[in-house]
Amino acid sequence: MTSTISRCPCGSGLPLDACCGRFHAGEAAPTPEALMRSRYSAFALGLEDYLLATWHASTCPVDLNLDDATSWIRLEVLDHGSAGERGHVHFRATFREGRRWGVLAENSRFVHEAGRWFYVDGEPSMERLKPGRNDPCPCGSGRKFKSCCGLG
Ligand SMILES: [Zn+2]
Ligand SMILES: [Zn+2]
Repeated sequence: MTSTISRCPCGSGLPLDACCGRFHAGEAAPTPEALMRSRYSAFALGLEDYLLATWHASTCPVDLNLDDATSWIRLEVLDHGSAGERGHVHFRATFREGRRWGVLAENSRFVHEAGRWFYVDGEPSMERLKPGRNDPCPCGSGRKFKSCCGLG
């Protein structure tokens, strides 16, 4: 189990320390995509301080109240890029709350200030998933739902 636990939640396949963990420890994320991945990992790991620190002051909430009942399962980055001080990332994040599954999709905007990228805002859309027993598992394992996360 140790290798699974230390694997970065963003799905890069790298160990956490060699991936988003570096940014959680204070290193500046070099691109909007790297920042977005590290923020996804911070959501998955419950690192509220990191999420607030990488949120642009103009849109940052006072506090987050992360929901422990939500497990972040899978991240897919569909598109990303930057032009000068502005950046964007379009992603889909699959989550589950107990037996309920959903996907959050967002076009996020980022800004580069004082040597760092910050998350500004986005247009989120939420979709419920109802995986059937024989459907591909929404976790991205490539196995059928009934023989993966749908077990039991
Ligand atoms: Zn990562
Ligand atoms: Zn699965």
